[in-house]
Amino acid sequence: MSRKPIIAANWKMNVTPTEAATYLETFLPLFPAAVASDIVIGASFVTLPKAASLIGPSAAVEIAAQNMSHEANGAFTGETSAAMLLDVGVDYVILGHSERRSLYQECDGVINKKVKATLAAGMKPILCIGETLEERDGGHLETVLRTQLSGSLADITAAQMATVVIAYEPVWAIGTGRTATSEQAQETQAYVRSVLVDLFGSDVAGATRIQYGGSVKPGNAAELIGQPDIDGFLVGGASLDPVSFSEIVKAAL
Ligand code: PEP
Repeated sequence: MSRKPIIAANWKMNVTPTEAATYLETFLPLFPAAVASDIVIGASFVTLPKAASLIGPSAAVEIAAQNMSHEANGAFTGETSAAMLLDVGVDYVILGHSERRSLYQECDGVINKKVKATLAAGMKPILCIGETLEERDGGHLETVLRTQLSGSLADITAAQMATVVIAYEPVWAIGTGRTATSEQAQETQAYVRSVLVDLFGSDVAGATRIQYGGSVKPGNAAELIGQPDIDGFLVGGASLDPVSFSEIVKAAL
């Protein structure tokens, strides 16, 4: 089954609205029309409106939030709702990133609520999963990934899965410069797809895009994207430079 690659930048808590303007001045002209991959820029809440207005109706680039409340509205100081993101023109929401899981104690139950709220609003979740080095070395890789997938995707229907993207990100490879080898990434992503077969059946599993994330750079992107179960990337550090991010995108075209 052919799956359209999806390459997403995760700017994390970097890139002010002013810096986004400078970045996009370089980046957008490189992809003036729709290309063979989906390209997504994940910006902070305050940078999203600026990014959205600069990108405009460009078919080639979409925008992602990096988190979202599962609550619709109300007394939730500091939180941001689906309606607010939709109003700004957000297309994707990155959910369950390992930094959200480890630094802000987000568990699969809460992430599941956020996935549901994202889908109900008509936006597309990028659901992050991944194991720590201790979990991998301790032989718990498969249990951890299966638990994260079944918990975060509880009650999601096969039809809803059409817009869900999975990002497999080994925690030990995020921001460490230590990338999973292409064999390790392929083997694990094939396992992730097999869990999707168990949860949703082979048609859904075959159509679901699974990104790899963890120290992806222009130098390793081509080999990683050559693996049959790697359908794109979620890129942190290397996405902060528009030229290096564009080289990663080009490796996936
Ligand atoms: C990430 O945080 O999603 C990520 C993959 O970061 P990096 O590319 O810096 O490892």
